[in-house]
Amino acid sequence: MADFLAARERMVERQIAARGISGGRILDAFRAVPREQFVPEHVQEFAYEDSPLPIEADQTISQPYIVALMLEAAELEGSDKVLEVGAGSGYAAAILSQIVDEVIAIERQPELAQLAGNRMASLGYENVSIYEGDGSRGFPEKGPFEAIIVSASGSHVPEILLQQLTVGGRLLMPVGEPHEVQKLLKVVRTGDDEYEQEELGAVRFVPLIGAHAWNEQGRPSDPCPLPDLIRDAAEPLPDFDDPAFGALFDRFADARVVLLGEASHGTSEFYRARAAISKRLIEEHGFNIVAVEADWPDAASIDRYVRGRQGREGEEAPFQRFPTWMWRNTDVDAFVRWMKRHNDACGQEEMAGFYGLDLYNLGGSIRAVIDYLDDVDPEAASVARERYGCLQPYAKNPQGYGRMAMTRGFAQCEQPVVQMLRELLQKRYEYVGEDGDEYLDAAANARLVKNAEAYYRVMYHGAAESWNLRDTHMFETLCQLLEAKGPESKAIVWAHNSHIGNAAATEMGQIRDELNIGQLCKDRFKHEARLIGFGTHTGTVAAATDWDDPMEVKKVRPSLAGSYERMSHDSGVERFLLDLREGQNEQLSQALLEPRLERFIGVIYRPMTERWSHYAQAVLPQQFDAWVWFDETKAVTPLPGPQLPGEDETYPFGL
Ligand code: SAM
Repeated sequence: MADFLAARERMVERQIAARGISGGRILDAFRAVPREQFVPEHVQEFAYEDSPLPIEADQTISQPYIVALMLEAAELEGSDKVLEVGAGSGYAAAILSQIVDEVIAIERQPELAQLAGNRMASLGYENVSIYEGDGSRGFPEKGPFEAIIVSASGSHVPEILLQQLTVGGRLLMPVGEPHEVQKLLKVVRTGDDEYEQEELGAVRFVPLIGAHAWNEQGRPSDPCPLPDLIRDAAEPLPDFDDPAFGALFDRFADARVVLLGEASHGTSEFYRARAAISKRLIEEHGFNIVAVEADWPDAASIDRYVRGRQGREGEEAPFQRFPTWMWRNTDVDAFVRWMKRHNDACGQEEMAGFYGLDLYNLGGSIRAVIDYLDDVDPEAASVARERYGCLQPYAKNPQGYGRMAMTRGFAQCEQPVVQMLRELLQKRYEYVGEDGDEYLDAAANARLVKNAEAYYRVMYHGAAESWNLRDTHMFETLCQLLEAKGPESKAIVWAHNSHIGNAAATEMGQIRDELNIGQLCKDRFKHEARLIGFGTHTGTVAAATDWDDPMEVKKVRPSLAGSYERMSHDSGVERFLLDLREGQNEQLSQALLEPRLERFIGVIYRPMTERWSHYAQAVLPQQFDAWVWFDETKAVTPLPGPQLPGEDETYPFGL
């Protein structure tokens, strides 16, 4: 200990005072701060050498004389607030803490920021705060500062730093190529827009790496980094219940179809945002179809409820199959109840219906067709029983049908289900007179059975073929709905980003030959289809680890460096809408064209293998017309299991 004290005194006299630094407060500060405590143990014996020293994370603690030179040039006053960029070990910040009132120091390396923060606490330097982050942007929230000391060498003096100086404020900063001799610059802000600059000599610092400095490859960073462009174009989102939330989406209301995505099947904010947007489009812009990535027969019972149509006798409670939380959750329940209230207050023609686009509930669809025919055409019902009887053994395990068809080499049930649909369509005019909605429902179910038969068969031929068949089915169901509801009809689709973001702009289309509803809608409706994607950085999500496993609330890992999500996170705006339509935010759209990773969480989430299980390359502005961002999100709250059929007092979800 005594050795360190003596060595410190020698350092002050020989390395600092002898070189002409005369400010008493600066010399006293160097006498007070134990440099040996700012370096790793194995270099402590060299703590008072006249040189920089290696510290953790491959960085350096600066040479004491250079720190003293910068602080003297900064003309510090006791009442100053000072920003240090590049806190490293925290040594220079600790010296500053002895001279001025308040020190804010920012360090890019998380490990160093943590260590420096701990040192300040253990040495009792209470007027220093250490933050992790990119200090090349400064710290506008904490500014302005009487002095800014940059302890790493930049490519230039960033304008954004100068703007954080008070008038009269001083910035000290080395500028020059990494690993070369650099110039130490002093810039004084002499007026609102006036600065004076002088050169103080040659120095050597490690590079300042950040948005307004060098990039990791040692080249100057883009002068307009993506997170800044996002921040400038981002339109902050109000609360979901504020009418201003929905109003932000009025710009998409002249479309025939607005497709609303989600980056997971278990995130509350995505459901609530889609509900707020849908309410607005229904109430103010005449949208009358809500078509969701759910099974047709299940959604049909919700539709009966919201449009005050009679339930089918013996009908099962909807959404009982895995993944139940995807629709059976408090956010969907609240939206469905809103639809009911809205519809109750308007005439039949203005009501909005709720429909399912998906084809997984084969058994439910078979039952629905037979029930319908029992009512309108009992003879046809017995033919249907016989034809669908072929699939009946597989209703609960349709994959089994696909396996059987592949093993035996022929599609035993194809003919009967195709025939069934054909006859139902042929008798359209006969049946439709009874009840148009019921006919639409039966025809959709018969189409679903036909497509599901094919879907389970091709599942064994390859993922792309079955995916394409499913998305084509969803698209055709949407088109049938629009047609059935007439030329004035307008639809809102709720489906995962992977279904609604144009597949041609992602790995799906480019590598795997997969298409999706978003792409098919763009092809058919052009600008009359608007695709809106959603994203998040971190939080929790309701998901399972494997198919048919129980739902868990899982932590969503912070998004990967370089991904679209990380760029959105780095913008610093917590909830926003980005308008990516042609002619809007052109500079941003251009910058976003570089393909990046995008995260896709479905009903399964596997954080341990996240990069491979959940990220794919995409080109965001080609995928979507808009991007909706919630930096931190929460899992949906599932509803308890269904009550017994017939308990329709608490319809539709048995709550
Ligand atoms: N003043 C420090 C001390 O007393 O230990 C020495 C600083 S060291 C020479 C430079 C530091 O700047 C490194 O720790 C490096 O990680 C950090 N750095 C580089 N780019 C940065 C950035 N954009 N923002 C914050 N810190 C950065």
